Amino acid sequence: MLAQIKEDPKISEKKKKFDVIIIGSGPAGYTAAIYTVRAKRDTLVISGILPGGLLMLTTEVENYPGFADGIFGPELMSIMRKQTERMGATIVDDEVVNVDFKHKPFKVLTSSEEYEAEAVIICTGASPRKIGAKGEQEFGGKGVSYCATCDGPFFRNQDIVVTGGGDTAMEEAIFLTKFGKSIHVVHRRDKLKATKVMQERAFENQKIKFHWNKIVDEIIGKDKVTQIIIRDVVTNEKQTLDAGAIFVAIGHEPNTKLFKGQIELDEQGYIVLKDHTKTSAEGVFAAGDVHDHRYRQAVTAAGFGCMAGIDVDKYLSENKRK
Ligand code: NAP
Repeated sequence: MLAQIKEDPKISEKKKKFDVIIIGSGPAGYTAAIYTVRAKRDTLVISGILPGGLLMLTTEVENYPGFADGIFGPELMSIMRKQTERMGATIVDDEVVNVDFKHKPFKVLTSSEEYEAEAVIICTGASPRKIGAKGEQEFGGKGVSYCATCDGPFFRNQDIVVTGGGDTAMEEAIFLTKFGKSIHVVHRRDKLKATKVMQERAFENQKIKFHWNKIVDEIIGKDKVTQIIIRDVVTNEKQTLDAGAIFVAIGHEPNTKLFKGQIELDEQGYIVLKDHTKTSAEGVFAAGDVHDHRYRQAVTAAGFGCMAGIDVDKYLSENKRK
């Protein structure tokens, strides 16, 4: 049962029923909306607490095609939003607090409204895990990054710290050796969690130095990161590393808490898809990092959004015929 909200006469005049509701407003959400609107499906996008998604927190994006000189993340998302609105989608800046995918039409409850739709596309993304060190939030986008592919090229010839011991951390560290003067991997254990082959590649690379049994205590700088203080978890001894950037690679968490019990999730909480973009609930689709833990790129999320938009249109046509 969904929690009840008080009926506000002004709100009740608003439109509440749509063909499609898209939850989330990153590249997957906006692209899905562009496709459903072009298919003449009445579409609502509920943006979530960070309209525009994770790209709103990045600086320059150089790997999204179409922008010869690169583009800033927030600007890219603002263009996508304008395009989505111009095409005719309704966008509300609100947070979804509950859903009912067990009955049709589906119900999607935000903090101020209850909406209904024949189909839903979940595009809520995944959030990188934070280390919780002092300075991590302050220097976000100023040397603290969660994506080497996105931000690595900005730190050419600089000393760079990577924290984490899994495949992502090794992949990021190896990738960053293309740009950085030296790469310091800071890991809380004395051995890596990464697969053997990734470990070997990292150990072979002369630019990568390992700091075992260490955690990041503090990130220091003025306008941008200049130093990282690390602490030995055994001896408690502190050490200062000069570095222009720190890449945090300690895993991601899909934003799927809301959907637990409504659709199938894997053991890490990612949405399980079948037949391209379909979830286990008929009429509910998903696109982007909320199911894709492999690529995690803006352009792949947009691609999945396109697929989900096309799949929803087909589903609605077939459903009408039944
Ligand atoms: P992961 O395998 O969960 O590894 C996370 C790492 O971060 C672990 O070493 C963990 O330490 C460390 N960690 C977690 N919380 C921490 C904290 N609070 N402070 C400090 N360190 C912390 O995550 P992942 O590396 O992102 O990989 C996720 C999945 O994607 C894995 O299945 C991986 O194999 C896969 N993947 C594959 C590839 C590839 O095949 N090329 C590339 C990337 C990812 P502990 O070791 O102490 O647990």
